[in-house]
Amino acid sequence: MKISDLMHTTDRFLSLEFFPPKGQTEWPSFFKQVNQLAGLNPLFVSVTYGAGGKTQDNTLEIASSVHEQFGLTTMSHLTCVGAEKKGLAEYIDKLLDAGIENILALRGDMPSAGAPDVWTDFSYASDLVQFVKKRWPEVCVGTACYPDAHPESSSIEEDLEWTRHKLSTGSDFAITQLFFDVRRYQDLVLRLRALQINTPIIPGVLPVLSMQSLNRILALCGANIPLKLYLELQTAYETGGDKAVRAKGVEIARGQIKELLALGAPGIHLYTLNNADICLEILTDLPMLDG
Ligand code: FAD
Repeated sequence: MKISDLMHTTDRFLSLEFFPPKGQTEWPSFFKQVNQLAGLNPLFVSVTYGAGGKTQDNTLEIASSVHEQFGLTTMSHLTCVGAEKKGLAEYIDKLLDAGIENILALRGDMPSAGAPDVWTDFSYASDLVQFVKKRWPEVCVGTACYPDAHPESSSIEEDLEWTRHKLSTGSDFAITQLFFDVRRYQDLVLRLRALQINTPIIPGVLPVLSMQSLNRILALCGANIPLKLYLELQTAYETGGDKAVRAKGVEIARGQIKELLALGAPGIHLYTLNNADICLEILTDLPMLDG
């Protein structure tokens, strides 16, 4: 099923993001996590794609298995940095053969070694959106957007302009980078609407599992956290260790989800971190997810 079609059937939904486990030995425990979360009846699940890394080989296999074994509408992430049209076309054909009609079109992070030789067939995610939509118009294509602005952008205005451009090149919806200040999401949506962009913007919510994982993720993606919230998490750590941080993380995510839905977000995209327990804790008794 195409996510764009499914989205019209509900006014608030849950979607779940997984990353492919590194080694095959981890697959059984990964599928156990998926099985636990499949019961939440997500509208769709997505599987990340390692730009230039080993895990991209697993994305297709994991996405196909999740789709086949659990009957879940599945989306494969796909990055175009350093990629050639031929290789991506082969990947997309394999996805379609596996019954997967949804792609999250991304540029991917630039390799630290420098840019020039990786700019082959694609420069930006919008090039990938256009490539997919032209050749496979039947494919549903999502893209990423950034409530805190993408870290490479020189200003919020510049980031907004490229986001507008990307969404107007044929993206069926967008999923946001993680954020903690709900006003940033609201602001992004309002600015896009003022530019006549009515594409659904699905907010991405990250569970905070520990200070260590929070610090690592923030350093990787360049998202912001309000200092007040960070200090609360730090205090939780000093008084109750990882367990207290996790409990605070659940409280923060639940609050964020309630606020986002009250603001009219079309659904919630939960970054599961492949951890079913924390997702179930966050979503327990939140009476707003139709699935
Ligand atoms: P783009 O939209 O191409 O934007 C990149 C930068 O270029 C931005 O600063 C933008 O403002 C600017 N820009 C865009 N178009 C133009 C233009 N025409 N001219 C000049 N500047 C322009 N990474 C992975 O490797 N694998 C994943 O599975 C993955 N999943 C993700 C899922 C989500 C929901 C999100 C939010 C991010 C994900 N990422 C993933 C990270 C993503 O690849 C990085 O954030 C990357 O740095 C940017 O990707 P993009 O698709 O947003 O790029």
